[in-house]
This record gives sequence, C-alpha cells and structure tokens, in this order.
Amino acid sequence: MYVNKIAHTYNGVVTKEPTCTETGVKTFTCVCGDSYTEELDKLPHTYSAVVTPPTCTEQGYTTHTCSCGNCYVDSYVDATGHTYTAVIVLPTCTEQGYTTHTCTCGDSYTDSYVNAHGHTEGDWVVTKQPTTSAQGERTLYCAECGEVLRTKPITPCRVTLGDVSLDYKAKTTLKPTVTADEGVEYTVSFSSSNPNVVKVNEKTGEVTGAKKGTATITCTVTDQFGNAVSDACKVTVNYTALQWVIKILLFGWIWY
Ligand SMILES: [Zn+2]
Ligand SMILES: [Zn+2]
Ligand SMILES: [Zn+2]
Ligand SMILES: [Zn+2]
Repeated sequence: MYVNKIAHTYNGVVTKEPTCTETGVKTFTCVCGDSYTEELDKLPHTYSAVVTPPTCTEQGYTTHTCSCGNCYVDSYVDATGHTYTAVIVLPTCTEQGYTTHTCTCGDSYTDSYVNAHGHTEGDWVVTKQPTTSAQGERTLYCAECGEVLRTKPITPCRVTLGDVSLDYKAKTTLKPTVTADEGVEYTVSFSSSNPNVVKVNEKTGEVTGAKKGTATITCTVTDQFGNAVSDACKVTVNYTALQWVIKILLFGWIWY
C-alpha cells in the first residue's frame, strides 16, 4: 500500500536578529520536528555625520560614524589659509617701527621695519634763571618725546667801562664792554653823577663836556630776567690850549 507523504509545513521564526555587523538566523520548523535555517543579511550601518570645518592650515572633512564603530571620512575641504590683520607700530625717536600681521588662529609675523628717526631738536628753554651772581641754565628738549638733549649755562651779564677824558664842548661815545651769553637780551642805560660837567645820552652813551671838571658816568645793563649790573667810569673834561687862551683873555687868570 502506498500512502502519499504529506509535505512538511514549516513555520519560520527569527531566532537571531541581524545587526549591522552580524548576520541573523531564521529557523523554519515543521510540526514533525524537521527544521532548517536561513541566514538573514546584515543590516546596513546607520551613520551619523560630524563636520569638521577647515582651519587656516588643516583641511576640513565629514566623518560618518555608525554606533558599531564603523566609520568613513569624505567631503574634504581645502584649508582656508591664514587671514592676517596688520597693525602698524610707528617708529619713535629711539625705537624702530614695524608692522605686525596676526591671524585669528594666533599665527603672526612681523615685517616692514623702519629705523628710529632720532630726536628732533626743539627750542632752548630757560629752565633756571640766572641772578647777578649765579648761573642759570637753558635746556634743549626733543620736540617729539620731550627728552633732555643738552643743557648749557646762562652766565650773568657783566659790564666794564673805562675812564675817558674829553675836551670842553667836545663829544664822544662811551664804549662799555658787555659780556652776555648768546641769546640773552639786555638793555644798556647811562647816567651822569653831575650833568653840569658831563652830559650823557641815557641810551647811546654819548657824553658831552659841559664844564671843566670830572663826573662819574654809570652804565647799567639790565638782562631779560631783570638782573641789573653796572660799572662806573670817571669822565674828565679839560680845556684845549686854545680854550685856555680864550678863557685867560676873556676872563683873566683870576677867574680860574
Ligand atoms: Zn514535517
Ligand atoms: Zn554599523
Ligand atoms: Zn591662521
Ligand atoms: Zn625724542
């Protein structure tokens, strides 16, 4: 007797879930106990992308990473190169100038050096006034940085006046010797102890013999700081031989 076999009736169940790194297993079982398995394909990786932007010197890229650890890199972008901002430092009297180029990344370089230009002489300034007996001082400052470049003393003014003789009714001009430092302004004035004998022009020092005799002429030099120094001389007025003759003839010996 022949009995047809009845075909197996399999029921499939996933007995191992596939992942992105391992295959899965599906097991088919018949009620009779017969079974077989089928391999299930791995799942595709699930990537998440992280973009690393380029820097001045490093290229950028995108990293794709799966939770399993599998990863790959693509989308490379060129490095941007440095972007420098220039800051110019001007030279001073004593320090050289230069230009500093700095990138936001911190990279920097310096160029365009310019020599220090040295001090610029300003005006001489009176920093200590002289008195009639003590020296003063002038100072030369740098017009730009104010540094003291030089100093020089201011010597008090001096005046000397020599004695002179002149004839009755004659004129001569006194020549005082004035020593004053360069740049010191001063005025000169004259006065007579006896204008009836010797007249003197207050400003020019011109003396006129007004009468036989002597008088003291004082020459005063006053500097710009108000210091006054003076010297005196003796001025003697004499008759000339002819004036003697005239005087004797007109007035006689007795008058002399
Ligand atoms: Zn079966
Ligand atoms: Zn994976
Ligand atoms: Zn940079
Ligand atoms: Zn200077």
